[in-house]
Amino acid sequence: MNIHEYQAKQIFKEYGVPTPRGIVANTPDEAVKAAQELGGSIWVVKAQIHAGGRGLGGGVKLAKSTEEVRELASQIIGMNLVTHQTGPEGKLVQKVYIEEGVDIKDEFYLGVVLDRAKEMPVIMASTEGGMEIEKVAEETPEKIVKVAVDPAIGFQGFHGRELVFGLGITDKNEQKNFMKFAQKLFKVYMDKDAELIEINPLVRTGSGEFIALDAKMGFDDSALFRHPEIEEMRDISEEDPDEREAAQYGLSYVSLDGEIGCMVNGAGLAMGTMDTINYMGGTPANFLDVGGKATAETVAKGFEIILRNPNVKSIFVNIFGGIVRCDRIANGILEATKMVDVKVPVVVRLDGTNAAEAAEILKNANIENVIAATDLADGAKKAVAAAKGEL
Ligand code: ADP
Ligand code: MG
Repeated sequence: MNIHEYQAKQIFKEYGVPTPRGIVANTPDEAVKAAQELGGSIWVVKAQIHAGGRGLGGGVKLAKSTEEVRELASQIIGMNLVTHQTGPEGKLVQKVYIEEGVDIKDEFYLGVVLDRAKEMPVIMASTEGGMEIEKVAEETPEKIVKVAVDPAIGFQGFHGRELVFGLGITDKNEQKNFMKFAQKLFKVYMDKDAELIEINPLVRTGSGEFIALDAKMGFDDSALFRHPEIEEMRDISEEDPDEREAAQYGLSYVSLDGEIGCMVNGAGLAMGTMDTINYMGGTPANFLDVGGKATAETVAKGFEIILRNPNVKSIFVNIFGGIVRCDRIANGILEATKMVDVKVPVVVRLDGTNAAEAAEILKNANIENVIAATDLADGAKKAVAAAKGEL
């Protein structure tokens, strides 16, 4: 689960991680009130959406008077903000964050992510702040300092020194400030069961302070039950409605931009199925794991959600019957074709427990559009051909 910048900064404040003062606003009036309350003479009006690159898309603007705050807030609230992270359809801005303007001397990048290979959180820092870190990693990887922190030991002085030396911060006072910043940020990451924290840019001010100008936080969904205060920050309007509905039925669904709908049991098999589709020259339209307790109803729901995507040209059902029996899935497919109008070809590969019974059920039902496959490769090949209209 992700949260907004203003919410992440609220958490930072609780932990003493320096951030600019700011107030969230839902209307231009509230924005003006926020600016008056903050005081000063320069404010930044920032669109609150779950995506980065807002500045380039016109969602972060500087105001030099409260009148200008009003003007910018009325432009930004209600706008459809398109950034490289939103996709071409963009995202509707419903809130802005009004923040005091900060005197920026230079911009750094600081992040904490889970490194699955090292099995540890890794602090990543770079002098190339304000740029996309993926681009820095590709073009000038030597400009990224990575420090793995064993959670059993926690953040220590040597981790901090590795960071400041790696970044070329030489002033003693600045070194101290940066190390404290990183230490507190790491504590936020651990305490809140975050999956990712990204501060881009982390700025150094004229007086040698470090301040989080931007803030992105993502959390481990499996640990949310320990953090009702984070769960409360959930903004449903930022989430994919199909993914949410699927979750209510116990289905793990992630929409993708290909043409072949996938219905598979088990996350591993689902990944393998998507790879095989790619290998055969097709592109998956979604990831869908129906789980171990698939019923006719959940299978039908799966079809319904897959088919809502207008790009879907064929569906590949790839089930290995272990806990879930193939005959049950076959009946589910029959039910589904009665409940939803399945207009695209459906390639079905059922293997494992009761596979023979399942094949019999499907054969007897003789449903138009259903194509039987013998194994994974055969199924993927047929699904690709069907999507191209070659079957
Ligand atoms: P995004 O990454 O989505 O574009 P940021 O929060 O990083 O959004 O803001 C974009 C840019 O706007 C920053 O790189 C910085 O130059 C400027 N900026 C953002 N907040 C402030 C602020 N409070 N004071 C001064 N400049 C800011
Ligand atoms: Mg940013």
